[in-house]
Amino acid sequence: MKSKIGFLCALLFGQSTHIMAQLPQDSRRAGGIAVIPLSQNIQQVYYKQQQVLIIQSKDQRYAVFGIPLSTPFGPLQLQTNAEPIQIEVQTYPYAQQYIKLKDQSYVSPDQAQLERYAREAEEQATIYKSFTPSNWSTFPDFITPTKGKFNNSFGRKRFFNGEERAPHSGLDIPAPTGQKVIAPAEGIVVQTGNYFFNGNTVLIDHGQGLISMFCHLSKINVSKGQSVRQGDLIGLVGKTGRATGSHLHWGMSLNNARVDPQLFLKK
Ligand SMILES: [Zn+2]
Repeated sequence: MKSKIGFLCALLFGQSTHIMAQLPQDSRRAGGIAVIPLSQNIQQVYYKQQQVLIIQSKDQRYAVFGIPLSTPFGPLQLQTNAEPIQIEVQTYPYAQQYIKLKDQSYVSPDQAQLERYAREAEEQATIYKSFTPSNWSTFPDFITPTKGKFNNSFGRKRFFNGEERAPHSGLDIPAPTGQKVIAPAEGIVVQTGNYFFNGNTVLIDHGQGLISMFCHLSKINVSKGQSVRQGDLIGLVGKTGRATGSHLHWGMSLNNARVDPQLFLKK
């Protein structure tokens, strides 16, 4: 009898956690995510020609839309195969950060470095703009890719040696060099490389324009084209590229918009 009840509890508990893991958190701000219930007639959603992820959850389909960091607050319109959808983007108090770098080339790169960066940025942009079909029945479950205490580093306005540069497009997790970095969800490794700013980097495509990025690694343990399951070792923490100390930079992109990785984790 006892084991029967235990089995029933496991079954119920298993089901409820399964449902909870389905969708990211809705946070309608620049760098946030809008989880939008869709009416029956809407099959496709676009923002600036970029296809938006659609997922079924129980009896409802949702568009899971990444709001670009450069979006001003106010109304925003999405295109669909039917009527457009309007959402309201809220203001959000991103902090400012002043960073001192000893290597001035990371603040004012020379011509050769700028050319290298332009090539790398284009390579990454092509990946971010890609949209591969998914065969998920539920939204992929995400866990943190490495251990460490982190705070709200996503979206910070950054000043390197006093000069304003692009806002911080990922989440930094401080951790010792050599600590394991794992795949937070299943996907396919779409690129690995050594980049000027990002250092040793791995990019994973999770499907439907949902792409994760792991930077400043001391070692890369996967290769392009490889499929990974959640928890698989992909590399080791380091401080390669533009990094002031050893940490993992974890980026998440949806419909070519860099969004706050924390929104994919359970509250
Ligand atoms: Zn970072």
